[in-house]
Amino acid sequence: MFNLAGKIAFISGGTKGIGKGIAKVLKQAGAITIIAGTDSVKGESVAKELGVDFISLDVTDQAECKSVIDKIVKKYGRLDILCSNAGIFPQHYLKDMTVEDWDLVHTVNLKGTFFLVQAALNVMEKQRYGRVVITSSITGEITGLSGYSHYGASKAGQLGFMRSAALEYAGQGITINAVMPGMIMTEGLQSFGDDFLDHAKNITPMRELGTPEDIGYAACFLASDEAKYITGQTIVVDGGQVLPEVQEI
Ligand code: NAP
Repeated sequence: MFNLAGKIAFISGGTKGIGKGIAKVLKQAGAITIIAGTDSVKGESVAKELGVDFISLDVTDQAECKSVIDKIVKKYGRLDILCSNAGIFPQHYLKDMTVEDWDLVHTVNLKGTFFLVQAALNVMEKQRYGRVVITSSITGEITGLSGYSHYGASKAGQLGFMRSAALEYAGQGITINAVMPGMIMTEGLQSFGDDFLDHAKNITPMRELGTPEDIGYAACFLASDEAKYITGQTIVVDGGQVLPEVQEI
């Protein structure tokens, strides 16, 4: 386990699923951890369960992203680690997809990443220290999934954003990287239904779905001081899902 003692870590979408797993691991590694989501009741109760702080944030609101980062700096003195993780994945087949469907997914997943990462970088630049870890996906950059063309575009878009941002801040003590999860058992993924989840398990070489903590450990590494020479990169955490050339029977 990498040591994050004394670091201030903020996780968007930290109230459920992968974000909650990241929060658990960063807290275990010693970070003073703050989670965010739009549902304050759920957020406060998860924060209590994990022994972390909660702050309400809708990442689609740029002013709110800036003010939340300002509040964190005011309360904790600095912001060392941002895990930009909040995301949605509603299913819409392309033939019926509306511009509203498209825009919602891009607004939360991609614009929300831009708003929050930009606000955090403005603080990290002054500190000349920062670790940004974006939760992207294998979907979009490596794989496709029927009903998720808008989602795949938003997740691949996060990686394009991440690479150029990493370059702009290289040499300033700031790194910007991404984790690319495969199928991770979360509240969000549960909505796909048991048949889909069983199938996903069977076609994954490790024959199991990932846990939110599996993503947390990758994020913890990228958030550590030891990962200082890594920027603009990705770690796939998928139980081998993207490997097979031909699916074995
Ligand atoms: P989840 O269980 O549905 O949790 C989503 C989290 O995002 C919740 O904490 C939710 O909090 C928050 N959120 C949603 N909209 C938000 C908004 N507008 N502003 C702020 N917070 C918001 O989802 P998950 O499966 O953990 O997925 C988390 C991330 O991992 C997403 O970016 C997703 O694309 C990515 N991912 C997931 C998988 C997977 O298999 N699960 C695979 C690849 C990538 P509230 O409900 O309080 O808003």
